[in-house]
Amino acid sequence: MIIYNKVSKIYKNDTKPVLQNVNLEIKEGEFVTFVGYSGAGKSTLLKMIYAEEMPTSGEVYFHKKKINDLKKRYLPKHRQQIGTVFQDYKLLTQKNVWQNVAFAMEVAGKTQAEIEEDVPQIIDIVGLKSKIDKYPEELSGGEQQRVALARALVNRPKVLVADEPTGNLDPISTWEIMQLLLKINEFGTTIMLATHDKGVVDRISKRVISMDKGKVIRDDLKGKYCI
Ligand code: ADP
Repeated sequence: MIIYNKVSKIYKNDTKPVLQNVNLEIKEGEFVTFVGYSGAGKSTLLKMIYAEEMPTSGEVYFHKKKINDLKKRYLPKHRQQIGTVFQDYKLLTQKNVWQNVAFAMEVAGKTQAEIEEDVPQIIDIVGLKSKIDKYPEELSGGEQQRVALARALVNRPKVLVADEPTGNLDPISTWEIMQLLLKINEFGTTIMLATHDKGVVDRISKRVISMDKGKVIRDDLKGKYCI
């Protein structure tokens, strides 16, 4: 489903590669975790899936489509297939839970009827039914991340990219988010998770890709955190 073929990346005005000859294949429905020290290249690798960064050399394929040379006009359609969540939740502070999630559907051109059907459903799945009219500042970090997850999922993406989604959370909220990610994966969404959290990685026992200085140094099915 996702293929990185000999992917290298040198950022503009830099000389040192941040990714070096990365070769990876991720199958539909997989749950893949990326681990490695800060600066190892995990975020850069993930950004290539939603075409925020392009390789300097090599190719990235999504469903056999080469993402490298996607024309600008196809980017929104491509990105609709990929949900994203980050360490900072990136919620719209002036909108409540319902409006934050609905906004993602409005941007994707969904009808009002679709919005009214799907928004409550996804808010229920992430366990925030009782907070539907609250604003981000009225929510805990874990709850805000669940809103971000609902927003990422409401357009039914094929892949969810989660870049340090639990980086700001306490262990209990972290585990709640992880359980949600596992549930979403069971429903069929492919998950690509970058995390520093050794406890989480060891507990979920999914594929672990270890990165160091822009290279994949280990790729372990049912792996343990190892850098
Ligand atoms: P990780 O997610 O593993 O912490 P990153 O992909 O964020 O790694 O970063 C890898 C390297 O690329 C780091 O040295 C970082 O400073 C550099 N880097 C990341 N983004 C940019 C950018 N937009 N411009 C220049 N260098 C960048």
